[in-house]
Amino acid sequence: MSLINLLDLLPSELETLAESLGGPRYRGRQLASWIYAKGVTDIRAMSDLPREFRETLAARAEVGVPELERRTPSQDGSQKLVFRYRDGARVQSVLMPDDDRLTLCLSTQVGCGFSCAFCFTGTMGLERNLGAGEIIGQVLGARATLAPGARITHVVYMGMGEPLANYAATVKSIKLLTDPQALGFSPRRITVSTVGLVSGIEKLAKENLRVNLAISLHATSNEIRDRIMPVNKGFAIGGAPAACKRFPLPFRQRMTFEYVLLEGVNDAPEDARRLVRLLKGIRAKINLIPFNDWEGSEFSRPPLPRILAFQSVLLEHGIRATVRWSKGEDIGAACGQLREAVTV
Ligand code: SF4
Repeated sequence: MSLINLLDLLPSELETLAESLGGPRYRGRQLASWIYAKGVTDIRAMSDLPREFRETLAARAEVGVPELERRTPSQDGSQKLVFRYRDGARVQSVLMPDDDRLTLCLSTQVGCGFSCAFCFTGTMGLERNLGAGEIIGQVLGARATLAPGARITHVVYMGMGEPLANYAATVKSIKLLTDPQALGFSPRRITVSTVGLVSGIEKLAKENLRVNLAISLHATSNEIRDRIMPVNKGFAIGGAPAACKRFPLPFRQRMTFEYVLLEGVNDAPEDARRLVRLLKGIRAKINLIPFNDWEGSEFSRPPLPRILAFQSVLLEHGIRATVRWSKGEDIGAACGQLREAVTV
């Protein structure tokens, strides 16, 4: 019999589980406190739960934190963490410090089926979706590596996989991140990144989760986007910005658009002007990501003057645009560089 992963359950569901095992509901709250506040993963070590309850629970359930198989520090302070699940599947998470922030980048799938041409993860294909508890397991696993007093302040869903293609698990993991009895993050500190799956964006808009949304746009014409992001063939380019206009943005928040700059492909001033037109009417900010090289890639990073020229067109039109020099480039942990052998 396979064990229930307690990280798959919201605190209210832990209460129901406790009740189904013959205990009072508040045992579920105690469980949540052991797992999330105290970071204890051994059910038998949860000392204020009755011994019999612990034994019954441990026979049926576990706290499924994946094994940290490798931890690679970068010169810039970020760290790539390789996690391995019970079935041998591996994903990567990245911890990125920046002043007083510590951002954790999470994976939602083992591999990815979207095959964006500039992305190393896309060359893996999709192996499988992660469950909500497996996503949350990365948070607990990453947290366990931190020095005393350090804490993760922000979470981004920008690792391996397309979060909205694993919709139910992504949404449940957000609920676990934000539940005050679980991880208690403010939704404003959580960003979900998507290639622009319109139906997913519209569904997410109705969940009222109040998280930030980032759209990986990367091109301004169907011709170029079809070439570098095959997903565009099913969702023509204007679809995602249109869905963004209907997305309930938290007060004073802006919709983020990610734009990887590929030399000679999407980095001309004309592309920048088309981008301005495409985002008209949206409270947008644009992250320009100079391409991060990986072996075998057909693309290269534009020279600095071209990157800055692209940015200035956006700034001249009043669009907030920042050049994001990815962290972890030297360890293959930068945007679009994540790849890991899927199983042993
Ligand atoms: S950029 Fe995102 S959606 Fe595209 S292949 Fe990479 S992981 Fe998948």
